[in-house]
Amino acid sequence: MEHIASSVTTRSDTRTGSPCEFCMKLDAEFPKRKPMDQMVVPNKRNTASAHLTEDGYVRHRVLELARLASRSAA
Ligand SMILES: [Zn+2]
Repeated sequence: MEHIASSVTTRSDTRTGSPCEFCMKLDAEFPKRKPMDQMVVPNKRNTASAHLTEDGYVRHRVLELARLASRSAA
């Protein structure tokens, strides 16, 4: 199992991206996400489209909408 491609590392890795700070703050389930679903590309941080996976993107959008909704209600 030594020959697994470096692109499939499961630990956080600056080559693949960094955890989305927006999701980290707002999503209570964030630590339960798959590592790839936590990651965003470094130069487009904290936007939904920066997420590397479809699932990460969707979760980010849900958090954005929830935040907007709670703002307009307040
Ligand atoms: Zn995010």
